[in-house]
Amino acid sequence: MANSENGFFDGFGGKYVAEVLRRTLDELEVSFKDAMQDESFLKELETIQRDYIGRETPLLFAETATKILGGAQIYIKLEGLANTGAHKINNAIGQCLLAKRMGKKRIIAETGAGQHGVATAAACAKLGLDCTVYMGEVDVRRQQPNVAAMELYGAKVHAVTSGSRTLKDAVNEAMRDWAANPDTTHYVLGSALGPAPFPDMVREFQSVIGKEVKRQAEERKLDVEALIACCGGGSNSIGFFAPFIDQASPRLIAVEAGGIGPGVGENASRMTGNASRDGIMHGYKSRFLLDEDGQALPTRSISAGLDYCGIGPQLASLGKKGRIEFTSARDEEALNALKFFAKNEGVLFAMESAHAGAEAIRLAPTLPKNKAIIINMSGRGDKDVFITSPVFRHDAWLEFLHAEIERLESDKDIHDAKIMN
Ligand SMILES: *Cc1c(COP(=O)(O)O)cnc(C)c1O
Repeated sequence: MANSENGFFDGFGGKYVAEVLRRTLDELEVSFKDAMQDESFLKELETIQRDYIGRETPLLFAETATKILGGAQIYIKLEGLANTGAHKINNAIGQCLLAKRMGKKRIIAETGAGQHGVATAAACAKLGLDCTVYMGEVDVRRQQPNVAAMELYGAKVHAVTSGSRTLKDAVNEAMRDWAANPDTTHYVLGSALGPAPFPDMVREFQSVIGKEVKRQAEERKLDVEALIACCGGGSNSIGFFAPFIDQASPRLIAVEAGGIGPGVGENASRMTGNASRDGIMHGYKSRFLLDEDGQALPTRSISAGLDYCGIGPQLASLGKKGRIEFTSARDEEALNALKFFAKNEGVLFAMESAHAGAEAIRLAPTLPKNKAIIINMSGRGDKDVFITSPVFRHDAWLEFLHAEIERLESDKDIHDAKIMN
């Protein structure tokens, strides 16, 4: 499925890391290739995908949405039904199983909004591995529900206080930890980026999405015109697209965060934006939003998972070649799409996935009725109640939060319950 050549995808990718990590990455590459040839490993992976993650996830015909938009048939891959609520668990489980096979008992991970941290913490709990998650101090403060979940799963959340105290500092800290503890520790990277072999490895573990979709579409004899996925680092999109990359069709459409507009700092459009350039960061070469000195520019998106300043190297390469079409959806369009599919299909998209939904709403009416388009709903929207409620029902939400604070400060029962724990 379109593997890299020695870690490169037409010049993007590579292993731009400190010398000390070179051997660790080489060993990981060998172990990964070996595991993917090992029937018993693949069997174990398949079993845990079925029983723990809940695969396969359904492919839903969005009948009402299709009728309203009056064009192509819309299908939704309900990846948000995976245990923990999003696709990230596919990669976390895959890498943790691999780490176990390599005899590593300690897992570290970086996380921004906390979604990857939650998936990794859950995978470690399931597989009996020790877990430390690096998270910028600013993010720890902003993303308490995810921090709470990670701690429930038994992970240690390490608040990073260097730099801007956000995702990129968490990545740097995780890399430092790995370089210091390569023999005991595996670093579970959260998207289809970073130094080789991560882009190949993450794609392979996420390709279960695309393999299922291919089978499901064939069973229903769909004439698939396009696959649509949102694109942050690129793991859900590349996993969804993987089995189709080497074919001429269907069209593969990746949707970046358009934020509030086209200006620098107003979006996270690495492929479609005007501040995009080639660069090297976090161990790989790709397209990034960088200033003239090569420093990361600020990004903006209503969705917590689409605002990283870089994109996976294989996506950058396939975008340059034209096999993947890149577009973007603004915050407002994503919010409208979220509302549209909730009301008409009873499916609540994650804010990230709603960007793909927005593109489907634009595209479907332009296509004939015998064609199908498939949206990957990478996650479900329960996690976004703190983002959507202030937008859709601001005053009632504010009142609720005030009441919650009052309740916490006054309710003796809660204190007693805490002591009992
Ligand atoms: C993290 C996340 C994304 C973005 O990450 P990719 O690596 O681009 O897939 C998209 N959707 C959801 C639900 C996420 O949690």
